[in-house]
Amino acid sequence: MPLLPRVDEIHTDENRVTEVLPGQDFGSRVELALAASNHLFNSRNSTRYVAQVLQGVNVVATKLDRTTRPFTGVGPAEMRARIGAVDLDRPLPDTAAALEELESVYLRDAVYFHDAKYAAHLNCPVVIPALVGEAILSAVNSSMDTWDQSVGATMIERRLIDWTAERLQLGAAADGVFTSGGSQSNLQALLIARNHAVAGLRQKPANAGLRLPALLEKLRIFTSADSHFSIRKSASMLGMGFDAVISVPCAADHKMDPAALAEAMAETHDAGLVPMAVVATAGTTDFGAVDPLAELAALARAYGAWFHVDAAYGGGLMVSGRYRHLLDGTRLADSVTVDFHKTFFQPVSSSALLVRDRAMLQHVTYYADYLNPESAARAEIPNQVDKSIQTTRRFDALKLWLTLRIMGADAIGALFDEAIDLAARVGSVLAADDDFELAAEPQLSTLVFRYRPRVAGDGDRLSEDAADSVNPSIRAAVFASGKAVVAGTKVAGRHYLKFTLLNAEATLEDIGEIIDLLRRTGAQLLADGGTRGVGA
Ligand SMILES: *Cc1c(COP(=O)(O)O)cnc(C)c1O
Repeated sequence: MPLLPRVDEIHTDENRVTEVLPGQDFGSRVELALAASNHLFNSRNSTRYVAQVLQGVNVVATKLDRTTRPFTGVGPAEMRARIGAVDLDRPLPDTAAALEELESVYLRDAVYFHDAKYAAHLNCPVVIPALVGEAILSAVNSSMDTWDQSVGATMIERRLIDWTAERLQLGAAADGVFTSGGSQSNLQALLIARNHAVAGLRQKPANAGLRLPALLEKLRIFTSADSHFSIRKSASMLGMGFDAVISVPCAADHKMDPAALAEAMAETHDAGLVPMAVVATAGTTDFGAVDPLAELAALARAYGAWFHVDAAYGGGLMVSGRYRHLLDGTRLADSVTVDFHKTFFQPVSSSALLVRDRAMLQHVTYYADYLNPESAARAEIPNQVDKSIQTTRRFDALKLWLTLRIMGADAIGALFDEAIDLAARVGSVLAADDDFELAAEPQLSTLVFRYRPRVAGDGDRLSEDAADSVNPSIRAAVFASGKAVVAGTKVAGRHYLKFTLLNAEATLEDIGEIIDLLRRTGAQLLADGGTRGVGA
């Protein structure tokens, strides 16, 4: 028997019994269980497993061949109606039928990140080696919490953590753990920093007898005004409140201003409060700015504060051939967030938190008798749950492993470099285009800009207010057309459009076509006398 059946050989006898009516006798229940067991992943069903998964893969591949734009423009009401019409209590005869239905409830109208006209958020086209990993890790279904549920998976994850820490130059005592995403990595970093700070405060005689809430009230986190919202959200989840986060102004280049940080930290210190952490961003979500890491690290150290670097976006620079140096300052970090599912071209989810001092991970360690008893830790059984805020956890590291083994790190870096270089070229195009205003020079692979043409007869540009009205409408109209997907953001309270470029195959012509679509849409909206009839 060949290992893989050809797609045209696929037979689907997987649901021999499809329905059991209420009141049917015990005999048919046994039959139902027998039919259901055809769906279990085991040696008896391996042919069916291959056939069913191949059908799914085949449907996606067919979709790829036939898709010519990133989106169809479908709205929520229609999708809700189509999905609502499915009778979930009445299963279909087989996988083929379910996949056919999936076309209309999902695949036809999905937003396709691999399309060259998708230029909105930090979603990457994914690499095929990682998809192979995804198929394997979900089938074997190892769970990363304990050694006895993972074995080699734990060692692969650990090896990749070491590899990442070395690239980030975190030193020999570094460690870390894979997480579900940058938000979770940031939360865990701040949880560790908080517990570390509280442990420090508890040692001071002046704080004797103070309860935890009184200690938490003293703590402050410093991060730039352009940093990711997960920093504020984490502070809130950690019982410190949004107000514990001090927003430090950025310089004109959207990097945190070290002088402003020095001032804010001094003020906090003089007020008798405790600077708990400085959170720098290596690649801000809007402007791709990399904060001046060395200067911020020195200030954090001067005040005894934790220094966390959020490199959720910029993490891919660690494998870049041309822009690696932008991450040099991570060697000074106490912890670093990296999102492999952004600039390493991995499918969601794949992210990690790294720490300089592995002992710090003990701030999240709890021992459960049924799972990871303390005796296991003493016996040095490698239970990753000791380092994680999750318990049952996917073996996401496998995707990165196969990517590095099949493609290599330099190849990943080359894909990111292409996107960065494309952004630079698009930046020049937009800067030279009289109908658009660029908010700032591109720093990584994003561009923030707005449609603001010169008004006929008048040397001036469209008013700020009119630009505020037309830009969100352009974005919505283009999304509804399905011909391109772009993002929007606000700069100093004003509405802008945003490209996030991560597709090494997108060309300057592709992005030029999006720019022309934005221009035509904007001109039409202005000609129609405003933005009526287009949902923002
Ligand atoms: C995307 C992003 C995050 C959040 O990461 P998720 O994986 O979406 O949770 C955090 N910080 C920065 C700078 C980001 O760009």
